[in-house]
Amino acid sequence: MTLQMSNSDRPSLDCSIMIVGGGPAGTSTWLHLQKYAPHLAERAILIEKAVFPRDKLCAGGLGGWSSDVLESLEIVFDIPHLSVSDVEFRFGEQIYHHHQSDCFKVVQRLDFDHTLVKTSVNRGLKLHEGEMLIDIVRQSNRLIVKTNKREYCVQILVGADGALSMVRRKMMPGQKSNLSPAIQIFAPVDPQFDPEFDEKKIILDFTFTIDGLQGYIWHFPCLKQGIPSMAHGIGDTRIYPDKPRANMKNLFSHELKSRNICRNPHTWSSHPCRWLSSEALISQPNVILAGDAAGIEPALGGGIHLALAYGEVVAWAIIDAFKKSDFSFSDYKPRVQNHMVGKSIRMHTHLAQEIYGGRRNPLDALREFFSKRYQSPDLLSLLLSGTSLF
Ligand SMILES: Cc1cc2nc3c(=O)[nH]c(=O)nc-3n(C[C@H](O)[C@H](O)[C@H](O)COP(=O)(O)OP(=O)(O)OC[C@H]3O[C@@H](n4cnc5c(N)ncnc54)[C@H](O)[C@@H]3O)c2cc1C
Repeated sequence: MTLQMSNSDRPSLDCSIMIVGGGPAGTSTWLHLQKYAPHLAERAILIEKAVFPRDKLCAGGLGGWSSDVLESLEIVFDIPHLSVSDVEFRFGEQIYHHHQSDCFKVVQRLDFDHTLVKTSVNRGLKLHEGEMLIDIVRQSNRLIVKTNKREYCVQILVGADGALSMVRRKMMPGQKSNLSPAIQIFAPVDPQFDPEFDEKKIILDFTFTIDGLQGYIWHFPCLKQGIPSMAHGIGDTRIYPDKPRANMKNLFSHELKSRNICRNPHTWSSHPCRWLSSEALISQPNVILAGDAAGIEPALGGGIHLALAYGEVVAWAIIDAFKKSDFSFSDYKPRVQNHMVGKSIRMHTHLAQEIYGGRRNPLDALREFFSKRYQSPDLLSLLLSGTSLF
């Protein structure tokens, strides 16, 4: 890095690539860059406002193609987790049971994200922990990025800073929010009320769609600091923002009581997800968004595997930008759309419209979705075949 003078005549550090956020989207971006273009990875820094190990509100269900991405990045997965092969979808008294061997590894995000960060640092990542993005100002063909520590003159800024992305707010203001509120708690297993822990089964309950919830309630078995626990949560995708809102707090409180859990709502945690809509802006000259900052799928809200896969798309967008000396990133959205990330989001968006638009019985739509999705060639075989979609 070299020193440059900014508008304010304060010296800025010159930085080719800055990744903001050390969640799976940020670390995966750097790891893919390091895999495909180590000379560019050397020129990148990652800033993260927290200090690792840091937690992130999440049920920790690592599904989809996560294992394949981790394998392709040669990440050793040696953290405590629960393997789950059964998912039960509920709608009132109706049940659709989906069995797929080891379809989820349930992890604690504290451990998972820390593993990705440690692996990246061991491979050479320049990690700036405790450094928070505060402001971004465009200056001709560069960006002046201010953090709580210093000022940088940045050529490429990757916003991997989560659903409430500041990169997005600063560089792509005025867009629809597409935010889905979610509430979650962890509670120790009560064998009388939480049989799913012993059954190693995840419950996704769509019953409250009839009360206007555009989402579902979940119960995930997990190990919280080694203690058998359950993640209980509720999410409302709000993909139909004009429909009347369900009262999430009341529904969740009612659900917790049915599991013999009486907790003051002040002890609940909440954090939104962001879903990607077809009209959303996810790049600007010198700026690309990844993971939750760009948007995930609105049906089930699974985002870890998408964040991991976004990393590959972003890495190639950066590599090609340097090859062509074109930092407009005008082709970034089509890259995402043509990648399995975009294809998966599109399929899930259709599913969300069917379920939350009240067009179909949720279980019929889910049954059809999962039976079609696992027909070959599916997204996973696309990934494994290494098909280049660029
Ligand atoms: C309640 C809940 C349950 C969920 N359960 C699941 C699940 O079971 N399975 C699943 O696949 N997905 C789940 N998700 C979604 C999943 O958590 C996200 O999709 C995933 O974390 C996205 O990763 P990311 O790297 O894009 O963002 P994040 O993991 O949010 O990481 C963003 C990082 O950026 C940092 N940051 C933010 N602002 C700044 C700043 N200004 N400067 C510097 N750093 C900054 C943050 O500290 C954070 O470390 C759940 C989400 C919620 C809310």
